[in-house]
Amino acid sequence: MEIKKHDIKIKDIFKGFVDDGEDGIFAFDGKLTIRPPYQRNFVYDLKQQEAVIHTILKGFPLNTMYWVKTGSDTYEVLDGQQRTLSVMSFLNHQLQISLNGKSYYNDSLPDDLYNMLMNYEFMIYICEGEESEKLEWFEIVNIAGEELTEQELRNSVYTGPWLSDAKRHFSKRTCPAKGLSDRYVIGDSNRQELLEKALKGVCEWQGLKNITDYMAKHKSDNDADELWQYFQDVINWVEKIFPTYYTDMKGLDWCHLYNLYHEKSYNSSEMNKAVKILHEDEEVQKSKGIYEYLLCRDKDPFAAKLLCLRTFSERDKQSAYSKQGGLCNICKKHFDYSEMAGDHIKPWSKGGQTVPENCQMLCKECNSKKSDMY
Ligand SMILES: [Zn+2]
Repeated sequence: MEIKKHDIKIKDIFKGFVDDGEDGIFAFDGKLTIRPPYQRNFVYDLKQQEAVIHTILKGFPLNTMYWVKTGSDTYEVLDGQQRTLSVMSFLNHQLQISLNGKSYYNDSLPDDLYNMLMNYEFMIYICEGEESEKLEWFEIVNIAGEELTEQELRNSVYTGPWLSDAKRHFSKRTCPAKGLSDRYVIGDSNRQELLEKALKGVCEWQGLKNITDYMAKHKSDNDADELWQYFQDVINWVEKIFPTYYTDMKGLDWCHLYNLYHEKSYNSSEMNKAVKILHEDEEVQKSKGIYEYLLCRDKDPFAAKLLCLRTFSERDKQSAYSKQGGLCNICKKHFDYSEMAGDHIKPWSKGGQTVPENCQMLCKECNSKKSDMY
């Protein structure tokens, strides 16, 4: 791992500047990727862009920037993307700034100021080394958050044919993954959130601990077909098991559910009926839990937790009854099971959950007195 400081003049960086929109933004004679294809990060507003130009025209220092070396003579901006873009847009006549009450494009700046801008040096640290070292270092200096998301950082380290193909599937504005999964998965494809979700899913499926393990293993693959195939399988599976679409399906962790349950067989017309019944059931307080409940209910005795039911099941009430030895928990008198009611120890209205630990049995009189209090 090597990190070297370079001072590079703005006029050199601006050489060969190309803004290809979604296909990326490049400069420095084509050697520098300012923004990679299919990645649109947050953008400075006009005031912030102007502030960058003002800083330079006053001769004040800008903060350090970081580039990562991606090839023998190619680089990608890791930190400093928005500052670099502000200057490039101004020089490319895409941005107008105000200075001492007047407005200027690049070509209307007085010569001395224009020359000052062109000869101003960015202070850039260029790092090269093994992917894992680079990523670890980026995490330590905490570049993530400000300009790049974690997945964008991973993308800047594990470059290659696999990533280019993955981004065509998952990151392009009109990418196939977005069209396929939009009703089920929340994620901004431009911020690499869909790619990240698919990667998270495939890692869990294959028992890999980190997304970077997968990216390191596949970065030289010719295509990202395995990942794309996996993601299609997930969505196709959801549509097969739950043929009727409900809006509460959007945002569930479908990759995770697929990983857990896709090898089991389900009768989709029975599932369909059950989903409908549970949606109409007023006991069900959390409709988003319906799908996982139906997938796991025959294995998991506590599956009903997922539905946040308003009242306790017979099973919970029976077990509280025997634990209390048939005594009402308030008046301490003995009653038959049929004369008692299940009660939320921490009231439902105060966020108490319908879980066995929150269940007690009260006689009907005590129960109605308690409900009057809340
Ligand atoms: Zn009582």
